[in-house]
Amino acid sequence: MTPIRLMAGPLLANSYILCEDECILVDPAGDVEDVLRVLRGRDLRFVVATHMHFDHVWSAKAVIDSTGADFLVHRLDWELRYELLSTAEELGFRPPDPPDRAEFVEDGQTIWRGLRVMHTPGHTPGSISLVGSGFVLTGDLLFNGSVGRTDLPTSNSKALVSSICRIYREIPYHYVVYPGHGPPTTVGAEATNNPFVGASSCGVTPQSTSAT
Ligand SMILES: [Zn+2]
Ligand SMILES: [Zn+2]
Repeated sequence: MTPIRLMAGPLLANSYILCEDECILVDPAGDVEDVLRVLRGRDLRFVVATHMHFDHVWSAKAVIDSTGADFLVHRLDWELRYELLSTAEELGFRPPDPPDRAEFVEDGQTIWRGLRVMHTPGHTPGSISLVGSGFVLTGDLLFNGSVGRTDLPTSNSKALVSSICRIYREIPYHYVVYPGHGPPTTVGAEATNNPFVGASSCGVTPQSTSAT
């Protein structure tokens, strides 16, 4: 199960589709038609938001309305959804309507086919990462060579650093990181080279690279 990346929407956020006999969509950033094209008739079980910023849930309601998928999000971001979606206005966009309802996910929960939730707050209070076999989807927590913004009213830079440190501690270095913006990387590459938060700022012993 390798995430299929669709780059789309107003801020070119990454959407990821994961499929077996059915599919899930993480961060519906783009056009419904693009999603349907990847599904090729398969059911869409869940739409998952790593967080409730408008560029990551741009088409959530439209995709859910046309597929019947359930919407999964952390409760803390759902409760702040109107505030989080309103960051669209700063950038000259009309905030999208959120889905009508949500199911809440928690740290440690397996949501689908071994895909596990890590609550990784900082960029927003309810930001989550999703850990699969050999990869982790990090939303706007950790990027290739960068980290998520923490200058927003609902952000917390200390929490962001602890969340990234938790990724370095708990996720094997050879795992591929699929971030919310930009190209993929690996946990080890960021732990070693990320100029904002590397493993050295976490006080964790770097993992042996022999496993990679
Ligand atoms: Zn964001
Ligand atoms: Zn974003």
